[in-house]
Amino acid sequence: MSVYEEAYSTELKKYVSALEANYEYSKGNIKLGKFQCCDNCKFPLICANLKIDFTERLNTTKHRRPYFTPADRNARHSKNCNIKKRIVLRYDKKYEQSDTFLEEGKEFRVNYDPTNGLVINSSRPSTNSAISFQNNGNMKNSMKKKYNFQSKQVGTTKKHIIQSRNGFKDMVEIFTLYKMGILTDISLYDRNNNPLNFNSFFINTNRASKVSPFKIVDEGKNLFYYGQAYAHFSKKDKKIIILKFSNKVKINGKNIIAQPYTIIFPKLMQKSRRKGLYNELKKYAERFEKNKKVRDSYFTLFFRGSFEIYQGKYLRFNYSNSQLPIEKNIEIIPN
Ligand SMILES: [Zn+2]
Repeated sequence: MSVYEEAYSTELKKYVSALEANYEYSKGNIKLGKFQCCDNCKFPLICANLKIDFTERLNTTKHRRPYFTPADRNARHSKNCNIKKRIVLRYDKKYEQSDTFLEEGKEFRVNYDPTNGLVINSSRPSTNSAISFQNNGNMKNSMKKKYNFQSKQVGTTKKHIIQSRNGFKDMVEIFTLYKMGILTDISLYDRNNNPLNFNSFFINTNRASKVSPFKIVDEGKNLFYYGQAYAHFSKKDKKIIILKFSNKVKINGKNIIAQPYTIIFPKLMQKSRRKGLYNELKKYAERFEKNKKVRDSYFTLFFRGSFEIYQGKYLRFNYSNSQLPIEKNIEIIPN
């Protein structure tokens, strides 16, 4: 995920974009490939794909464009870091409690368990559904109260209404800030109050090594999947958009390797008040039609849910487990 549009090159003594860095490297002006957060912060960054020659046609299809990413997870931003100051100003807030996670100070309890993955709830009235973290931790009473089921008398039957704020977008934001090295002093716990790591539930579909060129994922396990993606129009109907991860994933234990995708219908998006997202995807689909090679035709996609095998060879986004429509489980971040 490229959250840094530009980085400070200690070799050139100026700010460069990842593409510029790649170009300067090919010219021999950058040798070490050392970058940092900004001129007053030594937080180290590396430029992925720095050494790849993107004037080679084959490489443009084989590799992601260059991008900056933190070089050391344990590094800290300097006290006066301009980037951190700017970002903290923007994000210095308390997150609202949601179905996805509860926040208590620097502790986040994620509605996740190792076996089943994320528990994703809907706002539909439900008699006895999945929710309820195990509150045997140190959670404050006020918070328990806030989070507990609300009972409503409907006729003679009692119906429980789940407190339904969907924290998907907030969780993506927290993760992004963590990746940037901004939100580092937080602790995560799962719904059983066991310590949790972001890597357990945020799965990078880009990560492919020589040993395992495809990300291997469990079928039907709800997680956050993210990675490079693109959108294109359906051949049959130009209003319908196909949203696809750029990389293939493999289903654990099965011989299915494919790029997971989903179909975006404008009417559903409008109904879910996600017209803004639809318009954005449309913009990307137009760009993709014009030029598949440029960075601007791609984006980072966050999808919450799982993948299902379709017609024995395709992988579709699966949202039947999540109880929430697909439109509520998608976010995109520009490259
Ligand atoms: Zn910094």
